[in-house]
Amino acid sequence: MAGPMGHAVQESSRGTSSSETLTLAGEPLPLTIPARMYVCGITPYDVTHLGHASVFVWTDVVRRVVRMTGVDTVLTRNVTDVDDVLTRAAAERGRPYEEFGLIQEYFFDRDMAALHVRPPTHAPHARHHIEHVVRLASALLATGAAYERDGHVFFHGSHVPDAAGLTAEAALALSSEYGDRPDDPLRDDPFDVAVWRPSGAGDPAWPSPWGPGRPGWHAECAAMSLATLGGVVDVLAGGADLAFPHHAYQVAMVEAATGVTRFARRQVHVGTVRLDGAKMAKATGNLVLVSDLLSRASGAAVRLMLLDRSWHQAWEYHPTALDDATQLLEELYAAGGTRGTAEAAEAAVRAALLDDLDVSTAVRIAIDAGGDAARRLIRTLALH
Ligand code: ZN
Repeated sequence: MAGPMGHAVQESSRGTSSSETLTLAGEPLPLTIPARMYVCGITPYDVTHLGHASVFVWTDVVRRVVRMTGVDTVLTRNVTDVDDVLTRAAAERGRPYEEFGLIQEYFFDRDMAALHVRPPTHAPHARHHIEHVVRLASALLATGAAYERDGHVFFHGSHVPDAAGLTAEAALALSSEYGDRPDDPLRDDPFDVAVWRPSGAGDPAWPSPWGPGRPGWHAECAAMSLATLGGVVDVLAGGADLAFPHHAYQVAMVEAATGVTRFARRQVHVGTVRLDGAKMAKATGNLVLVSDLLSRASGAAVRLMLLDRSWHQAWEYHPTALDDATQLLEELYAAGGTRGTAEAAEAAVRAALLDDLDVSTAVRIAIDAGGDAARRLIRTLALH
């Protein structure tokens, strides 16, 4: 993490800040123009909660800090609109799943705008990328990375847990939790996953060389990232619960299809937000809604509450956190209202942001220094 302010100031005075490189997830990430980013988006079947907001605000900060170094970004944020939970939620309300999904997306986009999250460059919908999944499945079959069985195309995944640094037991528990059905006897190996599968009765289905059906979730994101960004991304982002199986399989499928490693130069898995000791999740109703927080505080205050911590650490939400963030934001605004320029302080603020997105340190340096250092930080992090 960032050293104390004095250290950064000293470096700046030696002129070492002329080439700025972001360190992300513990490693320097030299970037060319533009930086390619993929963040796993929502399944539009319910309201936006603080766990989602945290992922998309942090991804937005990666983008803004990269931009601060003079490098443009191309961000894809997909919409998982082919999914059993969405189909079920739409059916319960007697609406076509596409229409129901679009209404939920509208509310999501409204929450993101209130949190000053810049819209993505590409917002692919799974239902518009079925053809790309079919092509991906064909490519995986051609390279021997997948096999066809009873209307399914399964990806050979026995190596994926090891590549993700997990024991078989831990991987099995996660695969079961996230619906990969490792006990399905159709599969050669419990870690094989569906690239294509027949649709359930009443669920949307599309034609394919293997019969009518629909994509598997990991394959959807693999296909949408290939279609919008190509075979390599600089940053693959999402919530910590997506590290395995979702991102591990997305990475494995793309690498198997393209022959290019590594698909994701860095992975940013944003720490889980907990409430009353448990993960915040729609399934359990254990939620803090973004819209409720926005009725109590500004979007900038909610944003700062999410950012005033390490991005990778899980944390427990408590209502006082929003009061603390509101107070901290007032201090930053007050500092921004003072005169003066301190180049060393501005350099120290930038150095903190580049040091694995150490927003907490950057904010405190800016408050101490005031003037341009505070004003520039407010702009860079969109805390206006
Ligand atoms: Zn995804």
